[in-house]
Amino acid sequence: MTLDVLIIGAGLSGLAVARTLQAHGMTNMRLVEKSRGPGGRLASKRLEGARADIGAQFMTARDPRFHAVLEDAMAAQAVAVWSPRMGKLTAQGLVFSPDTELRYLGVPYMNAFARFLADDLEIDTQQRVESVSNVGDGWQVVTSTTAWTARHVVITAPLEQLRDLLPDPTLHTMVHGFQSLPTWTAVVHSTSQLLTDDGQPLDAAFGDGQWFDFISREGSRPRRNSSYWVCHSAPAFSQQHLEDSPEVVGQHLCQALEDQLNFAATPVLAHRWRFARPANPDRTAQKGAVQLAPGLWACGDGLAGGRCEGAYLSGLEVADRILAGL
Ligand SMILES: Cc1cc2nc3c(=O)[nH]c(=O)nc-3n(C[C@H](O)[C@H](O)[C@H](O)COP(=O)(O)OP(=O)(O)OC[C@H]3O[C@@H](n4cnc5c(N)ncnc54)[C@H](O)[C@@H]3O)c2cc1C
Repeated sequence: MTLDVLIIGAGLSGLAVARTLQAHGMTNMRLVEKSRGPGGRLASKRLEGARADIGAQFMTARDPRFHAVLEDAMAAQAVAVWSPRMGKLTAQGLVFSPDTELRYLGVPYMNAFARFLADDLEIDTQQRVESVSNVGDGWQVVTSTTAWTARHVVITAPLEQLRDLLPDPTLHTMVHGFQSLPTWTAVVHSTSQLLTDDGQPLDAAFGDGQWFDFISREGSRPRRNSSYWVCHSAPAFSQQHLEDSPEVVGQHLCQALEDQLNFAATPVLAHRWRFARPANPDRTAQKGAVQLAPGLWACGDGLAGGRCEGAYLSGLEVADRILAGL
């Protein structure tokens, strides 16, 4: 049987596509995900005694459509607002840097927001798509165990992985210039306080772009209670240590926390995101989505500014365009 729509990837963008189509009565569709569950880079890792958020650290909302879904998730207790004492590493040292940004988190861990979005959806998990090719007036999608045909295929994988899925290179010329940067993330254990240079305690801090991007205290986040901190390294550090082992990276980052921030920590784990974020987030596709060929769609944060909100809105855009063409 030919499906109406097959969506590759159950991150925020794929979930937005599937939810919107389902809300419009579409049933002849599939959502295929290579991991064990939904969420993609909205990820948390189960560790001894607690979980830690190893992907996106918080979500912001400018568009009323993303704001509305966050409000729904808050009503269902799957999202809460986080108000950290925020700092920033500058040439003058670590300084207090309060702002008025409203930051949303999945609770009790980031991935809970993806699970909220996935609630009524059927997802074929642990199904890695290997190729997508044109067959007549539709598309054939092949995994290690199955082949499907669909009239519309939506690819939400990071763009480098999207290009690998399409054996016909003419299909991906429209996304050739887009590129991703890596991030190494370390979860560390610490009972120390992170203090500004003038002694004010912080829950989170933005980096100076040299070796770390963001550091945050899990225990400051709603409904978490652990001594873990999460440290996202900057692209330059991540690129330099791309092929190092997680153990080596964890040691490097703990040393850097000590040297740069006077913050004592021990490594717990390090996770490499090879395609963490777009190299140039300002380079976006129109409304975050591209039709590569009739019925073949690409969306996701790589085309939409590199953040959770953009990913979600890009999924809405594809769903609206598919529905408009029915
Ligand atoms: C370290 C880090 C920190 C971040 N911090 C923030 C932040 O603080 N705030 C913010 O707004 N954003 C942040 N982001 C970005 C945010 O996480 C992403 O913008 C968003 O989660 C992307 O959603 P997506 O659906 O576009 O892609 P993804 O979440 O990557 O989803 C794509 C899905 O496709 C699946 N997939 C890929 N290939 C295949 C295949 N061949 N077959 C089947 N399935 C496949 C993947 O497993 C994945 O689940 C951060 C990202 C990282 C990595």
